[in-house]
Amino acid sequence: MPYIQQTLEQLQKTFPAQKEFHQAVHEVLDSLRPLLAKESKYERYNILQRIVIPERQIGFRVTWMDDAGRIQVNQGYRIQYNSTLGPYKGGIRLHPSVNEGIIKFLGFEQIFKNALTGLAMGGAKGGSDFDPKGKSEAEVMRFAQAFMSELYRHIGPLTDVPAGDIGTGAREIGYLFGQYKKLVNRYEGVLTGKSLLWGGSLARKEATGFGSVYFAEEMLRERGESLEGKTCLVSGSGNVAIYTVQKLLELGAKPITVSDSTGMIHDASGIDLDLLKEIKENRRESLTSYAKERPGSRFISVGEYPKDHNPLWAIPCFAAFPSATQNELNEKDAKHLLQNGCICVSEGANMPSTPSAVEKFLAAKICYGPGKAANAGGVATSGLEMSQNASMTSWSFEEVDMKLHGIMRGIYRAAKETAKEFGEPHNLVLGANIAGFRKVADAMIEQGI
Ligand code: NAP
Repeated sequence: MPYIQQTLEQLQKTFPAQKEFHQAVHEVLDSLRPLLAKESKYERYNILQRIVIPERQIGFRVTWMDDAGRIQVNQGYRIQYNSTLGPYKGGIRLHPSVNEGIIKFLGFEQIFKNALTGLAMGGAKGGSDFDPKGKSEAEVMRFAQAFMSELYRHIGPLTDVPAGDIGTGAREIGYLFGQYKKLVNRYEGVLTGKSLLWGGSLARKEATGFGSVYFAEEMLRERGESLEGKTCLVSGSGNVAIYTVQKLLELGAKPITVSDSTGMIHDASGIDLDLLKEIKENRRESLTSYAKERPGSRFISVGEYPKDHNPLWAIPCFAAFPSATQNELNEKDAKHLLQNGCICVSEGANMPSTPSAVEKFLAAKICYGPGKAANAGGVATSGLEMSQNASMTSWSFEEVDMKLHGIMRGIYRAAKETAKEFGEPHNLVLGANIAGFRKVADAMIEQGI
């Protein structure tokens, strides 16, 4: 299709170095082929070339002082991608790997993910190459204050509502909110993922991990399968991974792995959730501590990983939950999973599987839930946090969890029915991309150029 090809080529020419961004756009546009063949209006209104370019892109300097009195400089980003369906909404990633291309890939994905939730949220993402790891509390606070000293003028409860992501948890959200409030002299719901003491929502912390497991359950139910008693692999050991492990345990499944940037844990008797939380949420230590304190578990350091694959995905399992970061599961990993009998992959992370790994999952017709559908529970619950803030109420854990569960079912149904409509019922990549895109694109047409 020349229109899709033209759009991709133009983007490649304008932003040659942004490989994760091109990967994300390529995947979405490729899935849209059958829709564009059926409906000429999207080309007539030039929706593709409009939707791939952010409405607004903010880059800024973040200057802060470390504990030794040295002045440190980081790059800050906020990419306000698309506001057709509501105020910009998406997390802030703090990780040394952050660059413009990464934030653009995440922001682009966020547009369609937010559309799938059915809530009034546009798409955005932000972040910085600042690494919270190894920094003191005071350094994290000074960085967050410096970051917000620029960001505050671009956001607001009806304009843009940032949230957490890799490296941005409740602590960072607290410092960001404190600075925002001081600068604008207003107490308002400008961030989500807030503490329960001052405007946060119950179940927000759990939402992405829980949602990814709910999505897996929906996919499996259709095949008469369930997670109960089944061995599962989880990667990562941050917010998403921890609450994926928790929900799996609650459902009687057996998660046996977690990982971090130093290596992976294989705990054949099942992950000890309390120990994992203690090490990651309280002590902020690496997983080497888990292996030391948990008899029978095994730690494999990143240095020992084979060059061409991740040993975590070579362990036999029934279901896999990649929940760390982008491109952490390649074609060889996908082959290992399939050879070992894995029939379900639900992506807690954003774009964790490489394009050739995704092809393998689709060709094998296993239950494959792409990140923009399977991990949408986090942003959906952020939307519920915004509703509670706006109406100055707070709902019980059970109420939020029930709404989250309903939203995940709705996302699954939308992706599944759209996939069926286009003749590929097992292909939830196609289903989720078309369902999300169609909603945003039709609204863009109605709102004019
Ligand atoms: P987090 O709490 O910061 O945890 C990230 C985890 O992944 C940590 O265990 C981290 O290890 C590991 N990790 C990060 N980068 C890595 C790398 N380059 N190589 C190896 N391990 C790496 O972040 P999170 O919120 O759980 O986010 C995880 C994924 O889910 C991301 O893709 C994020 O975009 C996506 N997501 C998150 C939410 C949410 O609500 N939080 C919602 C939707 C999607 P270390 O601890 O050693 O750094």
